[in-house]
Amino acid sequence: MESLNPATEEVLETFDADDETSVDEKLQHAHETYEEWKERPIEERQRLLSKAGDVLRENKQKYAEMMTKEMGKPVSSAVSEVEKCAWVCDYYAEHAGEFLQDERIGTEPGVESYISYEPLGPVLAVMPWNFPFWQVFRFAAPNLTAGNVGLLKHASNVPQCALAIQEVFEEAGYPEGAFTTLLVGSDTVEDIITDERIAATTLTGSTGAGRSIGENAGGSLKKSVLELGGSDPFVVLPDADIEDAATTGAQARCLNNGQSCIAAKRFVVHEDAYDEFLERFTEEMESMTIGDPMDEDTDIGPQAREDLMEGLHEQVEDSIEAGATLELGGEPLDREGAYYPPTVLTDVPDDSPAGEEEMFGPVASVFRVGDTEEAIERANKTRFGLGASIWTQDKKQAKEVAREIEAGMVFVNELVKSDPRLPFGGVKDSGYGRELAHHGIHEFTNKKTMWVTDVSDTDEMVE
Ligand code: NAP
Repeated sequence: MESLNPATEEVLETFDADDETSVDEKLQHAHETYEEWKERPIEERQRLLSKAGDVLRENKQKYAEMMTKEMGKPVSSAVSEVEKCAWVCDYYAEHAGEFLQDERIGTEPGVESYISYEPLGPVLAVMPWNFPFWQVFRFAAPNLTAGNVGLLKHASNVPQCALAIQEVFEEAGYPEGAFTTLLVGSDTVEDIITDERIAATTLTGSTGAGRSIGENAGGSLKKSVLELGGSDPFVVLPDADIEDAATTGAQARCLNNGQSCIAAKRFVVHEDAYDEFLERFTEEMESMTIGDPMDEDTDIGPQAREDLMEGLHEQVEDSIEAGATLELGGEPLDREGAYYPPTVLTDVPDDSPAGEEEMFGPVASVFRVGDTEEAIERANKTRFGLGASIWTQDKKQAKEVAREIEAGMVFVNELVKSDPRLPFGGVKDSGYGRELAHHGIHEFTNKKTMWVTDVSDTDEMVE
């Protein structure tokens, strides 16, 4: 397994993948640790999570630079990513006990009835490279605290990050086997999911991987959560603050070198605002600083892998061939590294890649619509349903439009973002299940219904 810097094309380190025997040993160890871990008091699990947050903060720069070198994200946003991981640890360290408390439900006199949230067992997490720390921590923080143990199959191009995350938990004092990194390729995932020692699985990744993992989990009757791709609409209504919409829209498209599931990808603009928005938005896209991701001033670094950049460029070329107009960018940069420039397309045909697929890089498609109804129709004209952003000064109208949007998350006058306090996830081909907030910690618990009929005269009566 190779760790390669996409900015310099230098091989940073190579790793031996886990073979069948070592995967088996790690699964066994996780299984045995679970039996012990689930019995520990929740307060202890919360305390360890808080320590994991401290380890992250103490090593912030080291982990940030590791991510930047391994997958090309600008180092300033890598630092923010580590801070956010520490935040999710703090969040569940503080709230997990309250989220997992028995939930009392009044039923009948003389009966104590409630839901108890109990762990499920070892959970396999299949994760992507784009937020190599954040995606893993938003799974691990609630899960480990709920009493499950975690096994990580990270993307094959970020083995250093994968091992570093295991180190964070070890340094925080978690027992060996509570969080385990498996260095394996995607061809071993089916065998791991179907192994009887695995209780459930979660994937953050592409729709294709989602279908396969969903089938494997379903086939073996195991719980799964799928956080998949998106082609989020960014709807600009005529009374929007165009300046703010254009600058935030460009950020929302280019964040993380354009490789974010919740990046704004399709800009749906009312015709009364279209010309002004397109001009300002294109200027903003053009003004992005492209360069060395280790430089604090860089807005856009290289794409994470050469093959991914080539695929993105092919999507752009095919869209233009199908009739789209190129307003900006559209050619890989002539320099070392997988650099792709901010690109703007208009007149995008529905059946072109930019019209119907996810564009996982700094490529924006801008659509003109005649009225609000058409804006809603255009926003929903996608097989994805992850996030959406709506821009208008009319709060009432914004809420009405938001109700019509087929997405898991809608943000008004703000870019779509994840926040430990709010549930995160999608509908349609963007997957199912939710991470974060109390929903995220409940996903992988056995919500056990309890009914206790009191048959003694002396016992304390509970309603
Ligand atoms: P990907 O190719 O699907 O890979 C994600 C993970 O799944 C990797 O660990 C990969 O392993 C594994 N994998 C790929 N195909 C598989 C299969 N058939 N069976 C089992 N495992 C498989 O996605 P990516 O390119 O890393 O990430 C980009 C995608 O993730 C985008 O679509 C993006 O929108 C989505 N994403 C979604 C969210 C969300 O929260 N909804 C967040 C971030 C990213 P290998 O690396 O070994 O191939």
